[in-house]
Amino acid sequence: MAAVKDDLRCPVCGEGILQELGPEADAVQGPETRQRQTYSCGHDVAEPPLEATATDGGLEVERRATEDTVDPPPETS
Ligand SMILES: [Zn+2]
Repeated sequence: MAAVKDDLRCPVCGEGILQELGPEADAVQGPETRQRQTYSCGHDVAEPPLEATATDGGLEVERRATEDTVDPPPETS
């Protein structure tokens, strides 16, 4: 149970552990713009935004759906 998740391991040296960014860091950069991860070993690894990969396939589907939809229903709030 003491083992550290591979996700938290430094991909550079494999020894460092991902540093937890406090709420203050999120307030400054925001969770969406956070592209760098600092590890306890001192390595600073750039990481692509999760949105880029998460919405890559979604956008295509959404675009296709939009083309097929001639008269989209108005949004009601
Ligand atoms: Zn490292």
